[in-house]
Amino acid sequence: MAHVIDGNALADELHARLAEEVRDLRSAGVRPGLATVLVGEDYPAQAYERRVRRLADELDCLYVSEQLPGDVELAEALATLGKLNADPRITGILVLRPLPPQVPEVDLYRLLDPAKDIEAVTPVNAGLLAQGRPRFIPSTPAACFHMLDAYLGASGRDLATCYDGVNLVLVGRSNNVGKPAVWLGLQRNATVISAHHYTHEAGRLGSFTRLADIVIVAVGVAGLITGDMVREGVIAIDVGINPIRDPDTGKVHLVGDLEFESVAAVAEAISPVPGGVGPITDIWLLHNTVRAAAMGAHVERPTHFGMAP
Ligand code: NAP
Repeated sequence: MAHVIDGNALADELHARLAEEVRDLRSAGVRPGLATVLVGEDYPAQAYERRVRRLADELDCLYVSEQLPGDVELAEALATLGKLNADPRITGILVLRPLPPQVPEVDLYRLLDPAKDIEAVTPVNAGLLAQGRPRFIPSTPAACFHMLDAYLGASGRDLATCYDGVNLVLVGRSNNVGKPAVWLGLQRNATVISAHHYTHEAGRLGSFTRLADIVIVAVGVAGLITGDMVREGVIAIDVGINPIRDPDTGKVHLVGDLEFESVAAVAEAISPVPGGVGPITDIWLLHNTVRAAAMGAHVERPTHFGMAP
């Protein structure tokens, strides 16, 4: 049975470091401010919004929530973002996804102030990340590699070389998770394969996931990757958050994109949902908000929690 990587324990460690970063910044007279923009009523996005709000409150950071209806017009969404860009109290802005079709994410990302773009989705910040010199490492891919680095280091591998040439298969290629994870994987010298919906449609998904030494799945389809689609000894990281409603009780519970039991039966290590990537992502988002605040105030900035880009 696989080792289950405990995202909550890793997040607790980072939380202590983050609290120190906030304290340092506050003593320099700077208060980090996070704003989220939520359009519509997507369950995982609402849950994410609640979690980062709680974390910001706990750390005594300013938090502003903009909630727009699902049928909002593009002009109003852009105006909301423009207002946050101009607000000096806000140091980091997160545009929650998914967005409705009349609000294309690229239009928002074009307007977003790169100095407040803590998820590195603007062209300039995405470009810097692609070149291996990120202003911000986006929170979810950062969380995936933080988990991997922590597990591989703890298992006795040398982090300076252990990714060299290994097969890293990423399933999902969104601008906020899959694509930035490609750059982080290449930066570590992994052999990166990016699979997506068309790979699945072509009937080839399993043939690629079976090549993986490490697989990161960020799709949003419950149990998409099953034990017969991975090879023995794989290290499997699950980003997916899929709400499942019990038809009898009406209660919602969350599952990932990995079919946990069958993948865990063959994997060397696996991240669970919940309690895996999610809690680390939350911390990293606030860390990037602190970093943005420090950069804006020209005071010493925290450095990606020490992670090599
Ligand atoms: P997204 O923007 O909807 O992207 C989904 C990706 O999955 C797309 O690249 C899509 O391919 C691909 N895909 C869809 N169906 C597929 C299939 N059957 N086989 C292979 N690939 C398929 O989603 P996202 O924002 O990246 O999020 C993905 C999941 O992660 C969601 O469940 C989300 O809630 C979760 N999430 C979790 C965290 C966290 O902190 N834990 C953070 C962010 C997101 P195409 O590009 O070809 O359409």
